[in-house]
Amino acid sequence: MIPVTALSSYLYCPRKLFIERVLGIKIELPKEAIIKGSIRHEVYEKINKAQEELVKSIKSKDWAFIYEIYRARYIRILKKVIITNKEQLRLIETPLTDFFREIKPMIENEAEYRAMGIFDFAGRTGFLGEELWENLIPKTKPEYRISSDSLGLRGIIDELQVYENFFVPVEFKTGKMPNEGVWPGHKIQVGAYALLLEENFGVQITKAVVRYLDTNTTRDVLINPFLKEEVKSLIIRVQELLNSAEIPGFADNENKCSACDLKDVCHDKKALELKTKDLNRT
Ligand code: SF4
Repeated sequence: MIPVTALSSYLYCPRKLFIERVLGIKIELPKEAIIKGSIRHEVYEKINKAQEELVKSIKSKDWAFIYEIYRARYIRILKKVIITNKEQLRLIETPLTDFFREIKPMIENEAEYRAMGIFDFAGRTGFLGEELWENLIPKTKPEYRISSDSLGLRGIIDELQVYENFFVPVEFKTGKMPNEGVWPGHKIQVGAYALLLEENFGVQITKAVVRYLDTNTTRDVLINPFLKEEVKSLIIRVQELLNSAEIPGFADNENKCSACDLKDVCHDKKALELKTKDLNRT
């Protein structure tokens, strides 16, 4: 079964996917990126866990009240996680306050986004407190694992929004976003989640969402038959690549190569040929 992320990697550069997954060559990310990424992940995990308690504590439909409850709670979570990880941050020589300042805007954006959903729902329905939580639509399931034998695909959806008769998969992304729409790899990723949901639950998925966290921007992706066909054909191409012993050509765009962490290995023709020969022998 192939992971959904392999589809977007293939779209970016089949050669890169081959080097990483078939030849097993991986470049370690800089320590700083790993540590900061894992702390950020922990913050989001704790934020998700706090959701039920937070919603139940909403006793007013006032926007300022709801937003402040979210903001204050998320900032407390952020501070606690930073303190728990102080030794890790020391390893990369990052003062705790600097890291707090770096992440705080993203966490405040998250608080605003989630508070807005609750504000809308409470305003429309009049529910508050326990009743608000019990009747809340959509409820969200973080890090939702899903797979399908018939598609030969598995993945983890960052957030699954559960409505009465349908679902919306949501993918969170950091980094630059395109001027319009979403990056092709992100579109394929949410398209693949939509296919997996349709396959597992027999419902039609018409929309997915990509959230660009750095700019607090939400972009919708329409799930149409063409996108689903594209995903299916990519699954076949990725399966073929993973079973092949022939290194694909270079990426279609030089900009991709200049930003690629594998560029040195990728241009080392001899080393790659040796590795590929080993594959043919086994
Ligand atoms: S350097 Fe370019 S061709 Fe090589 S793996 Fe990276 S993106 Fe692909």
